Amino acid sequence: MSDIRGKIDRLLEKLDELDFHGEISLDTPLAPMTYYKVGGNASVFIEVGGTVDLVSLKNTIDGLSIPWMLIGGGANLLVSDSGFKGVIIKLAGSFSEIIVDEDKIKIRSGSAVPLLSLVREGSRIGMAGIERLAGIPGSVGGAVYMNAGTFGDYIGGLIESIDILTENNTVTTLKNPDCEFTYRTSRFQKTTEIILGCSVKSEKGDPGKINIEIERRIARRKDTQPIEIPSCGCVFRNPDGCRSAGFFIQEAGLKGTKKGGAEISGKHANFIVNTGHATASDILFLMALARKKVRDLSGINLDPEVRLVGFDKPLEAILDAIEKEEKF
Ligand SMILES: Cc1cc2nc3c(=O)[nH]c(=O)nc-3n(C[C@H](O)[C@H](O)[C@H](O)COP(=O)(O)OP(=O)(O)OC[C@H]3O[C@@H](n4cnc5c(N)ncnc54)[C@H](O)[C@@H]3O)c2cc1C
Repeated sequence: MSDIRGKIDRLLEKLDELDFHGEISLDTPLAPMTYYKVGGNASVFIEVGGTVDLVSLKNTIDGLSIPWMLIGGGANLLVSDSGFKGVIIKLAGSFSEIIVDEDKIKIRSGSAVPLLSLVREGSRIGMAGIERLAGIPGSVGGAVYMNAGTFGDYIGGLIESIDILTENNTVTTLKNPDCEFTYRTSRFQKTTEIILGCSVKSEKGDPGKINIEIERRIARRKDTQPIEIPSCGCVFRNPDGCRSAGFFIQEAGLKGTKKGGAEISGKHANFIVNTGHATASDILFLMALARKKVRDLSGINLDPEVRLVGFDKPLEAILDAIEKEEKF
């Protein structure tokens, strides 16, 4: 029996003793849980519905030193073809609650709430600025972790406070400045804290106008992005102070380039799409190719935005290794 299998057996025994409530499944396919629809299985997948159970689970996992990872809506994840040897945790139940305070133009949202539901509720009460998050797939927790947004606007600009489970498994509340929000980054990308929920707040806007802007943005995405084909959205962050990553990939003549079942989209060059039978390796190959060709042509080193699940090296090191091996 492998080391991880033994640890997982012990985890299941301990959770049973603790009267843990949550949905547990073994050897669970992760591809259907991600927008990319690629990758292997998780040793264990656990859906947790409340803070008490999450704390018991995290304490037990930490005590057994089992690798773990949180997944939200799976809109920005690339799962390894060999899957994830450990526990994948997904928040559900009370983490899906949303409480609206119309007078204060404030919403308290659990992390498992779909971002679109937050946008719709915000629009209903005239939360100015919420329209900028329209059309971004995934959950509220994932959006906070990624500081998701469009152009210069991101969710961090609307956040008042965030409830987290700390690395020591205690619950605490962070104020906005503690979260270190900058373009597509937050403090959570440097820690193993779990985002439980957040409060968003803004000035009063006109609900009708906000709703029109939401629909306009969603329609525009349909025109400019291949949203009907599996992808993780933009693969690379836009380089600082200059044009978009997609512009540089297009300039390098890579639109439509294929590897296995993966393709650099002809509609939007910063999207690598899964045309039906892509593997994670196919997608990584195209990422390494785009990064190398853009560096050669424009001197810009593209910085990936997508997050990895189940790889034993950081993304940059994986791309470096592919680049060296393939001699593009
Ligand atoms: C078609 C398409 C278009 C997109 N357009 C945009 C866009 O315009 N702007 C943009 O910013 N992004 C965009 N994205 C990317 C994606 O939608 C965002 O990154 C989104 O915020 C990811 O949320 P998620 O819940 O799916 O997170 P996941 O992909 O599930 O996870 C992302 C990361 O967040 C972590 N995480 C998730 N939940 C928690 C939690 N509760 N606590 C701690 N860590 C957590 C995960 O461990 C992982 O590291 C697009 C994606 C697609 C497929």
